[in-house]
Amino acid sequence: MVLSVIVPVFNEAETLSILIPRLSTSLKQVDWEVIFVDDGSTDASLDIIRKASALDRHIKLLSFSRNFGHQAAITAGLDFAEGDAVVVMDADLQDPPELLPKMLELYQEGYDVVSPRRVSREGETLVKRWTAKLFYRCMALMADKRLAAEVGDFRLFSRRAVLAIRSFREQHRFMRGLVAWLGLKEAILPFERQTRAAGETKYPMLKMLQFAWTAIASSSALPLRLSIGAGVILSCAGFVYLARVVYLALWTNVLVPGWASVVVLQCIFSGVILLALGLIGDYVARTYEEAKGRPLYVVTSVLNVSVPESGITRASILLEPDPRSIQLRKVLRAAR
Ligand code: UDP
Ligand code: MG
Repeated sequence: MVLSVIVPVFNEAETLSILIPRLSTSLKQVDWEVIFVDDGSTDASLDIIRKASALDRHIKLLSFSRNFGHQAAITAGLDFAEGDAVVVMDADLQDPPELLPKMLELYQEGYDVVSPRRVSREGETLVKRWTAKLFYRCMALMADKRLAAEVGDFRLFSRRAVLAIRSFREQHRFMRGLVAWLGLKEAILPFERQTRAAGETKYPMLKMLQFAWTAIASSSALPLRLSIGAGVILSCAGFVYLARVVYLALWTNVLVPGWASVVVLQCIFSGVILLALGLIGDYVARTYEEAKGRPLYVVTSVLNVSVPESGITRASILLEPDPRSIQLRKVLRAAR
């Protein structure tokens, strides 16, 4: 059997030199390939992968034209992976390669998805841990109850799970949501998440929040419906207040309180209306982007990788011409 390991890489020059030897030691038992998906790195990552793949045919490269994001990089890796089982793991060694044999064992027991669950998160700030916990709560409440808590993108998929995931071609993607939606047989494997081996996180707070919102909005329309609920509650409150004002004006001597309450109510109501409009706008924008049907990623070079014969939909694969074929064409032209 062949195991494919997909590693999305964005400026990870410092971690790659530690990751590559650790990966090959952990993969002694099986035939393997590692597909590094370079997501538009601007440091030496690409050179390091190129050199490693020149020395070892197991090490493969897909290189994007620019930064398309972590989820797009995973998608590309899954599109090209040839293994019977496929593992997605980060380049920073927070997902330990030493867990791979155990994951393979569970795959051989017949699981389609093996999901390592983070029982501890070493070296992560309190804010990151809390926001992560809140995120899983919100997701379970709003989007998909099947989403496994504390499970990231570090996972093993069987061949048929990969084929199923490939059939999702949506632009705003949250891979974990897609896996949960499929509902395949899943094994949970507890592990202790390590600290980043080197370098800094590529997910600063703002990017994390955007990612969390994409996760919710791509899995659920509940936030739109919530605004209906908020509208109903506020309208009811408005009518109750109106009844009170009429009562005070007609049956008591109390003067109707002044403009302050009106201004406050006006602000609250306008705020809620704008918020609801913004929400609708966000979903419309996502629908618009989806309707354009643009490619999910653009690959400009590959090494040791063959493009699947069945082709890949909604992706641009712009390969450099093979120097050998250019040479051959020149020779043929000269001979003519
Ligand atoms: N990554 C990527 N594209 C991006 C951001 C991150 O391919 O735009 C990769 C990164 O190189 C790493 C993985 O995604 O291999 C996870 O990123 P990181 O470790 O920075 O995230 P964190 O673990 O801090 O959430
Ligand atoms: Mg990390």
